[in-house]
Amino acid sequence: MRILITSGPTREYIDDVRYISNASSGRMGYCIAEAARHRRHKVTLISGPVGIKPPHGVKIINVISAHDMLKQTLKHFNNCDCLIMAAAVSDYMPARKVKGKMKKEKEAMALELVKTPDILMEAAKKKKNGQVVTGFALEADFNMDYALDKLNKKNLDMVVLNTVKAIGEDKSSVWIVAGDRLKIKGYRLNGQRVADAGGKMKNEKCRMKNVKKSGVRSQAKMAGCKDALIKLNNVSKRRIADVILANAERISYNKRKMKNE
Ligand code: C5P
Repeated sequence: MRILITSGPTREYIDDVRYISNASSGRMGYCIAEAARHRRHKVTLISGPVGIKPPHGVKIINVISAHDMLKQTLKHFNNCDCLIMAAAVSDYMPARKVKGKMKKEKEAMALELVKTPDILMEAAKKKKNGQVVTGFALEADFNMDYALDKLNKKNLDMVVLNTVKAIGEDKSSVWIVAGDRLKIKGYRLNGQRVADAGGKMKNEKCRMKNVKKSGVRSQAKMAGCKDALIKLNNVSKRRIADVILANAERISYNKRKMKNE
């Protein structure tokens, strides 16, 4: 497959010197790129500014801001079979960039911020039959609501749900919601049924008070996607990368099969 991966943070410049960004190391995306090469895929890696070397055999495109990343992602999306958006795109950017270096004259100052474009959503809008789109959801805690919401709203085939604990760690725990099995089970992928199930899930929240650590699986079960769930507990990023790719390959295969039926 031709796999397009985004990774690392973006920088949103305030003036020519200062910027807004986040602590993403880019390692997750780089691990996915490396694993994809091992699985003999053709890989293009769009990377924000990071301090790590790209894996061998991968086409690398370096970008700085969310707008740069959007431009490159849309440019290469047409020619890929699978997009994996592992980048930690800055959610906001300064409303205006100042030329040169701002003077520190005032005791206090307010910075007006505006939302960056949602790259994943923009790309997924252009999804053609057979293309697989995967996103990440980094949340304060594991909440299936967020994952299903993203799957649905952003028109994704797969979501990798992890928590802020994963930042900077070698090993982490994730839930992977792989959408194609929803379809196989009769749940329309990214369609109303998933949304309905998500809604029902909210109504059932009171019933879930007694569900402790197993909450995520129970929530998903109520949403009807038990079989589409994979839990990886305290495993390496490389292992997570392999599971993501194995699922992307399976979803792609199923989509092609369905197209030909
Ligand atoms: O909505 P949220 O930021 O939680 O979604 C996370 C997913 O969306 C990640 O896959 C991230 O790469 C992508 N994203 C994006 N553009 C943004 C913000 C997030 O593509 N501006």
